[in-house]
Amino acid sequence: MTTKRTAIVTGSTSGIGRAIAEALASGGCDVAINSFSDTKEDHAVAAEIAARHAVKAIYIRADMARPDECRALVARAANDLGSVDILVNNAGIQFVSPVETFPVDRWDAIIAINLSSAFHTTAAAVAAMREAGWGRIVNIASAHGLRASPNKSAYVAAKHGVVGLTKTVALELAGSGVTANAVCPGFVHTPLVEKQIVDLAAAHPDLGRDRVIRDLILQKQPSKQFATVDQVAASVVYLCSDAAAQVTGTTISIDGGWTAQ
Ligand code: NAD
Repeated sequence: MTTKRTAIVTGSTSGIGRAIAEALASGGCDVAINSFSDTKEDHAVAAEIAARHAVKAIYIRADMARPDECRALVARAANDLGSVDILVNNAGIQFVSPVETFPVDRWDAIIAINLSSAFHTTAAAVAAMREAGWGRIVNIASAHGLRASPNKSAYVAAKHGVVGLTKTVALELAGSGVTANAVCPGFVHTPLVEKQIVDLAAAHPDLGRDRVIRDLILQKQPSKQFATVDQVAASVVYLCSDAAAQVTGTTISIDGGWTAQ
């Protein structure tokens, strides 16, 4: 990145979001790190990134389940960093259950955190990006934004929604210097996926952890390999570069061939 940029990465104290924040900072970007927990460890993530990459990195607590806090996150980052040039909507949760017994509170939380938060942060960020004539919105969707799997009704609905939101925002901003794209990872070994491995291993004690990973988790991923957080982060860095100025309203899959099927 030649010009100094500022970025928000939602849900960036762990997993993919943390790797994206690191990668943007390593390119010289000032970053706002976010989660809802406000722990010592959360603040330490920002401090480590600032020290490692000699950039400004601040921690901002905001619960992405709450519209007002999504919008306040953007306002606070714009104030503290001077602008929000790059918005990466990454925060997300998962819950797995057949639709008829899917808990209503889990449905509501997944739609709020995985989909509606991206609407609220985008709505709060685009006016300044348009005025600046440059901006990047990158939504971390999923292979589940393009394909379905049983027992993931809320997640699949939210991620398909994120892809639709991305395309709509891209059209509204076309020609303004602001792009909107979605990254669609297949399975990446993060805490979110580790929980699914543990739950499936408990449900299938006969299989063992290695077969749970190969035969159940990576069943749909033809490479039979996890994508890495750094591979996902590299795609975000590309989308935030000037080389990607004409890439908008589209998806990049990092899924070992999943959606080629
Ligand atoms: P993770 O659990 O490691 O990290 C999730 C992050 O979101 C954490 O920093 C957590 O603090 C934050 N978060 C959760 N709820 C929040 C809330 N209410 N407010 C603010 N922050 C909140 O998960 P991950 O695997 O790194 O997932 C990151 C994104 O990538 C998610 O949107 C997920 O759906 C998507 N994704 C993950 C995979 C995968 O295989 N891991 C695949 C495709 C897409």
